[in-house]
Amino acid sequence: MSIRIHQLAKEIGMENKAMLEVLQSRGYAVKSVSSTIDNITAESLIEELKPKDAPVKEEASATLDTPAPEKPKGPVLPKGAIVRSAETIEKEKQAAKDAAAAPAQVASPAAKAPAPAAPAAPVAPAKSPPPPPSAAPPKAPPVVPQTAPPPAAPPAAAPPAAAPPPAAPPKAPISGSSATPPGAALPPRSPLPPVPPARPSADTASSEGMDSAASVDTDAVAEKRIVHLKPPIIVRDFAGEIGLKPFKLISELMEMGIFASMNQTIEESTALTLAERHGCQLEIHHRGEEQQAAKKAVEKVDTDDPKFLKPRPPVVCILGHVDHGKTTLLDTIRKANVTAGEAGGITQHIGAYQIQHNGQSITFIDTPGHAAFSMMRARGANVTDIAVLVIAADDAFKPQTDEAMKFAQQANNSIVVAINKMDAKGANVDRVKQQMLEKGIAPEDLGGETVTVEVSALNGTNIEDLLDMILLQAEVLELKANPDCPASGIIIESQIEQGRGPTASVIVDKGTLKKGDALLCGDVYCRVKSILDDKGQILKSAPPSTPVKVLGWSSVPASGDRFSTEKNEKAARRVAEEIAYERKKEANTKETDDGDNSEGGPTVDDLFAAIESKQKKCLRVIVKSDVHGSAEALANALSEIESDKVDLDIIHVGVGNITKNDVTLASAGGCCIVGFNVRLDNGVQSIAKHHDIRIIQHEIIYELLDQVEEEMVGLLDAELIEKKLGAAEIRQVFPTGKGRFVAGCMVTEGTINRSRVARLIRDGEILQESSIDTLRRFKDDVKEVRAGYECGINVEGYNDYKEGDIIECFAVEEVRPSLR
Ligand code: GDP
Repeated sequence: MSIRIHQLAKEIGMENKAMLEVLQSRGYAVKSVSSTIDNITAESLIEELKPKDAPVKEEASATLDTPAPEKPKGPVLPKGAIVRSAETIEKEKQAAKDAAAAPAQVASPAAKAPAPAAPAAPVAPAKSPPPPPSAAPPKAPPVVPQTAPPPAAPPAAAPPAAAPPPAAPPKAPISGSSATPPGAALPPRSPLPPVPPARPSADTASSEGMDSAASVDTDAVAEKRIVHLKPPIIVRDFAGEIGLKPFKLISELMEMGIFASMNQTIEESTALTLAERHGCQLEIHHRGEEQQAAKKAVEKVDTDDPKFLKPRPPVVCILGHVDHGKTTLLDTIRKANVTAGEAGGITQHIGAYQIQHNGQSITFIDTPGHAAFSMMRARGANVTDIAVLVIAADDAFKPQTDEAMKFAQQANNSIVVAINKMDAKGANVDRVKQQMLEKGIAPEDLGGETVTVEVSALNGTNIEDLLDMILLQAEVLELKANPDCPASGIIIESQIEQGRGPTASVIVDKGTLKKGDALLCGDVYCRVKSILDDKGQILKSAPPSTPVKVLGWSSVPASGDRFSTEKNEKAARRVAEEIAYERKKEANTKETDDGDNSEGGPTVDDLFAAIESKQKKCLRVIVKSDVHGSAEALANALSEIESDKVDLDIIHVGVGNITKNDVTLASAGGCCIVGFNVRLDNGVQSIAKHHDIRIIQHEIIYELLDQVEEEMVGLLDAELIEKKLGAAEIRQVFPTGKGRFVAGCMVTEGTINRSRVARLIRDGEILQESSIDTLRRFKDDVKEVRAGYECGINVEGYNDYKEGDIIECFAVEEVRPSLR
């Protein structure tokens, strides 16, 4: 909001021109009386310049002969002139009291004047012309007030009780009232500005322009409005925050030599200066600070003080080589048949479940078994306390067993080894135990510390023992968490579900997750709409170590990411947006950096690399998967396909069914679509056919990888290879007339075939390569001659045969190209 100068002048009771001059002298960019200034400045000017005692003035004017001085004219002063310190005023009050105590001294007819309403009239301003503005500042505070213009008079706010007796013009003797003519009527009581909270410093009072304006604000330090902002500081927002119209702010910026439009950002230092100028205290909160502060705040509440900690169930993951029985084991434990429903019999996704054993809960994370899921498996291991390493007794340690063991060790999990398939024919426990010893996880019965249970997941043998051991291990670990603080935990898996939107399987590791909680997970936020357990039942809350599915996410959070609880949805959204903004900014900066080749432009090597890469074929793919984790895993596995001949370029990775949009994108980018565990939306098939887009789909990841490799191979031209069929040595050269010769040869290996290509070699050098013109045995033309037989050969386009030359015969065959 703003006010025009003439309105302000009217409000204060000044002439427009005078008002304009005051403002200009203070550095405001006002050109005419119809210019505007902002409300904050206007209010401080009104406060400063407006006479406070208007009724008195009227009354006094009416009762006095002497015309009252025209106040507004007088006070065309720099602001310093009207600001007096409380000390000065106190002194004046004291002086007034003293004067009252010595009335005799005031032998003035003025005493008779009927001026009861103006008892403390200090001076006859009519007599003392208003000093020029520069003379007005309180350079000699104790004395000047009397001769100063009306605004510098004693405080109007002084309570009547404290005022001196009416009949005593008290200040005359002190205030140098010798200048007051005896017959002068008492002037009306001069209006006073409010007692300023602080100083009038001589320097600031006399200083002009911006400083002067700023000094008004400095006076108002106590009332400074605190404005909180986060960078980037955008002109429009900033103007609103400090109570300015954006165009006004823009013009102020222009005065500072900064040209910015409404939507542009300004420097923090500029914003600080401007805020200060407009009486605001600007507090800039940098991104991340708030989050950290919030985190600290949460941490303060969410203390890990042992007194708040309560026992929690162990979180267990089952790791091991593919086909060693992980799913069967979990299945047996849950007594539900998961294996049958799984494509290809391989666990594809991380799921989490909780079971009860001997009245205690155990949470199981089901980690996938295929190598492509190593990353997810690593994440699975990271949220867990205990890792059950499944080793098939008939197969012992395998590469993935080693890998899983390392994951568990890196994640500081305590390891329980389940030697599975004890019922199998080739089961050899000793071999497994021996290997455990070698790998540094010696079993208890061989003097080590690793708990080992021999089980048969298929038959359910010793499963109870395994669970007992897990609980025992949990007891040793003394697993505890504070259930009474805001919830935090880890995303195990996330996906988009039809009718539910983005959902995430999470494990709460601290606090209790409740419906309605506001969660933050990277740049994704959530207002918990619904909490479901592994059986699909709705829960009201989820205490530590509970695996649940959470609905209500703004988007799909990344598997393995941590989530935490925010104050409310708004706060969560704000932080998520900030993180998204920062990530975008970072990505842009990276892109700019990557594109910037300022150091002398491309080198010859770069050029060759560029040419080579252009010549190299490239398969561009769009990856679609049912869940976030597998999409990521698939993309990783795809990027690991190595080839010297074909590049694989992943254009987009997404979660959900293959849509028409995917096809459009694929068509624009010349891509094929790779779908894992997803279906095609209606109509996608026909559009894909129309655009000639290949869609590769499978529910088993390694099948999918094979198909993608096939697709890559399909881009390559067929390879031609030579296959040597036989060789013959020229033993004698025979003339055939007309200067032509034929080579009399002995076939030394394989066969010489007339329909194939021949190569004439002399001393290791190829002299001719062409088809065989004539192949004869004695006088007969033959199709082929085998090793050990003599023949006559004429190589097309050649005549200069010599004894000892070799004629090789070979076939050129097309072979399927390979990627490597
Ligand atoms: P995963 O890939 O590690 O999850 O292994 P699965 O649980 O899918 O099991 C792979 C194969 O091993 C399946 O054919 C199971 O029936 C079989 N299997 C699992 N446990 C046992 C067991 O204790 N004994 C025998 N004989 N076979 C088992």
